[in-house]
Amino acid sequence: MGDKYRVVLMGIENSPAYFEREMTRRGVPRASVRRILTLAPVVIKKDLGVEEARRFAAAVRAAGGRVEVQAWENSRGHAEEDPELLGPPLSAFTVCSQCGLKQRAGGTCERCGNPLKKT
Ligand SMILES: [Zn+2]
Repeated sequence: MGDKYRVVLMGIENSPAYFEREMTRRGVPRASVRRILTLAPVVIKKDLGVEEARRFAAAVRAAGGRVEVQAWENSRGHAEEDPELLGPPLSAFTVCSQCGLKQRAGGTCERCGNPLKKT
C-alpha cells in the first residue's frame, strides 16, 4: 500500500479560454472546467497513488494548468474540495424532484426517499 496523493489546481498559465479548450479536448465537461477555474485553488483529484497523481498533474499542466501534487496528510485545510469534481462525471448526477438534493442518479433520494429518475 502506498500513500494517497491529491492534485490541486492552483491557477492557470494562459488565458481561461485556452485552459477551457485544452481541458474539454481531454474530455472534461466545459461546465466543470469553468467551475474549477472559479474555485481554484481547488482539489481536482484525490486518493491517487503517486504515479497516478503525477500522470494526472502532467495532463492538467499540458493544458496550461498550474497544479500541485500533495501528500494527503500535509494538505488538509489547504484548498477547497469540490465533491462534484471528485466523484463520477457530472452526467451521473441528478436532482431530486421532491427536495432538490443533488446526488448520484439511480435508486432513491438520500434525503427524502423519493425515487430518482435515471439520467
Ligand atoms: Zn429528495
